[in-house]
Amino acid sequence: MKPAPLLSVSGLRKAFRGTRVLDDIYLDVAKGEVVALLGPSGCGKSTLLRCLTWLEPPDDGLIRIDGRPFGREQVGATIRRQSGRAIDAMRPRIGMVFQQFNLWPHLSVLENVVRAQVVVLRRSREAATARARTLLADLGLGALVDRFPYALSGGQKQRAAIARALAMDPALMLFDEPTSALDPERVGEVLALLRDLAATGMTMIVVTHEIGFAAHVADRVAFMDGGRILEDGPAKTVLSTPADPRLAAFLDLVR
Ligand code: ADP
Ligand code: MG
Repeated sequence: MKPAPLLSVSGLRKAFRGTRVLDDIYLDVAKGEVVALLGPSGCGKSTLLRCLTWLEPPDDGLIRIDGRPFGREQVGATIRRQSGRAIDAMRPRIGMVFQQFNLWPHLSVLENVVRAQVVVLRRSREAATARARTLLADLGLGALVDRFPYALSGGQKQRAAIARALAMDPALMLFDEPTSALDPERVGEVLALLRDLAATGMTMIVVTHEIGFAAHVADRVAFMDGGRILEDGPAKTVLSTPADPRLAAFLDLVR
């Protein structure tokens, strides 16, 4: 029997003031799988990631993480929304990394990585600090733990943001255009980190326009347009022989 997917999304929909932004999204991600999510600007990629974490409540649809319902659950014939407390309890299972890093500017790098472990996971400060120091050292920031975000390069900020997300021991990591705000010479260091993270077996969805990264690191490519996933398959197949003309046109633009 095939194991249950780590992430399972069915019938996800979202509209903003009557405008449909996500239209019946189905997506399964297996444990250890890396999915590159491609699509033109405005097609709904960020909204999809935000809905997966319930930062944005989806209007409809079911999300399961590790087989457990997240946000909404089916009870008999009815679907009901979970309590805020239940949603908050599941949310740390998903780590999210943003284009603009979203580090807390008033906290040191170390404290950026420690804080949520203590507040959300109720880890002791000692345990949280030890975990943060190990992760920051692994990510090449061991000498910078006392700096504040303003004193870091873009690539260093993004690595600190990744450390902060990993410190929560998520089952799934979501990356929303993690290299788009970086200077070109810093893009490589963050892509290398994502590649290393993938090699550890981390399950990841990466929104990116880096087709080389998608081709070499992702197991699967999903292409969105107009709030729908139009194509989803093995990375090499989807990128070399796109079936949908909209994907072919998109690849011509970004390659
Ligand atoms: P992408 O990340 O693919 O560029 P987004 O998910 O950011 O696309 O946006 C998809 C569409 O939803 C866009 O038309 C955007 O303007 C709209 N949108 C996103 N967030 C909101 C919001 N909070 N309120 C209203 N419209 C939104
Ligand atoms: Mg976006």
